[in-house]
Amino acid sequence: MNMTKSLTILGATGSVGQATLDVVMEANARARAAGKEDSYRVIALTANRDWAGLAEQALATGASYVALGDARFGPQLEAALAGKGVAIGLGPEALVEAAARPAELVMAAIVGAAGLAPALAAAKRGATIALANKECLVCAGSVFLKAVQDGGARILPVDSEHNAIFQVLDQSDRVEKLILTASGGPFRTWSATAIAAATPEQAVAHPNWSMGQKISVDSATLMNKGLELIEAALLFGMPENKIDVLVHPQSVIHSLVAYEDGSVLAQLGAADMRIPIAHALAWPARLVTSAPRLDLAAIAKLDFELPDLERFPALNLARCALQMKGAAPTILNASNEVAVQAFLDRNVSFPEIAAIVSETMEEACRLGMDAALGDLDDVYAADEAGRSIATQNIAKRKFVSA
Ligand code: NDP
Repeated sequence: MNMTKSLTILGATGSVGQATLDVVMEANARARAAGKEDSYRVIALTANRDWAGLAEQALATGASYVALGDARFGPQLEAALAGKGVAIGLGPEALVEAAARPAELVMAAIVGAAGLAPALAAAKRGATIALANKECLVCAGSVFLKAVQDGGARILPVDSEHNAIFQVLDQSDRVEKLILTASGGPFRTWSATAIAAATPEQAVAHPNWSMGQKISVDSATLMNKGLELIEAALLFGMPENKIDVLVHPQSVIHSLVAYEDGSVLAQLGAADMRIPIAHALAWPARLVTSAPRLDLAAIAKLDFELPDLERFPALNLARCALQMKGAAPTILNASNEVAVQAFLDRNVSFPEIAAIVSETMEEACRLGMDAALGDLDDVYAADEAGRSIATQNIAKRKFVSA
């Protein structure tokens, strides 16, 4: 029997994409050392602009297809892979083509709503999707889950919190609460005044995790936990009032499930994405990884506190969007993506990120843009409305960066 799993990585040059390749390379090296066939065969890889990183990965893995979202960098990629037997696709359709190619497993690790169309293509052909891209689930919610169901696909959560819950969730009808842990981000102990002057460099300097820029800013605002709240409600079919958020600065416990009999089950591990990635790639088996081991005696003490919703209002905005249902999470996500980029570009201050999302949601509701999502066209319309209103809100502001 062939034990090699075929795998495509969407967003291969990013933080999760590269960690996925690390896990794959290590698993294959261990298999070869044991005289066995490779554990994984890479079919396709994608990036947006990092043509050099993509070309290097294609040559290292033997991928047969690579797709670059931003076609302007196509000539460089074509030159780097000339004569190497790797097929190349350019533009957003090529990302969909990569996901549609037959691979048993698809790692969905593109950042933002840009990951939606490729993830849908994987869902429609019944792939097993290791899902890191929470934004595509948040923005397309029921439409995405229906595509998964209709296509006979399966989602394996990669986000460390959801992967933790997935690992300890057995009788979902006996669950009292899901408890998502949050590190609290780099500004957990900062005053509101200090937070108001925070720079992009300070916001992306996460205390525990090494991640891409967008999710790092989301972790600093706690919007990341808000998106995860929506993600958990969708993935595990839980109502909003049965999902709590608990700040746990050490990031040792990755989330917990409280059962009706009083038992609370948790998953613990080092803050290293290779652990949930390895779990998703190997499920229902387990891989050996060289990720750091937990030394609880050295850690000695674990702390917990409630999130401060005054200094970090984004978490409640996400909770409201989840309660509102329909297109509200889509608009929340779209406006947040625009606002985070504006902050990274130094066009708005850190607290203005949540303010822009809040104003955009109010405006979108006033315009009736928060209606139920019937199909993909509704998703794209709400996403576009959220982006456009947020962009107008940013243009009205007078922020001058330090
Ligand atoms: P990165 O920014 O590090 O990487 C993003 C990847 O997506 C890169 O390959 C990038 O290509 C590609 N990409 C960016 N924009 C586009 C676009 N418009 N079209 C096509 N491809 C694009 O992100 P992360 O790896 O940190 O995060 C990826 C996803 O995983 C996010 O949804 C995040 O929330 C989630 N996640 C991340 C975790 C982490 O530890 N990093 C943990 C849990 C979830 P290029 O390199 O060319 O720009």
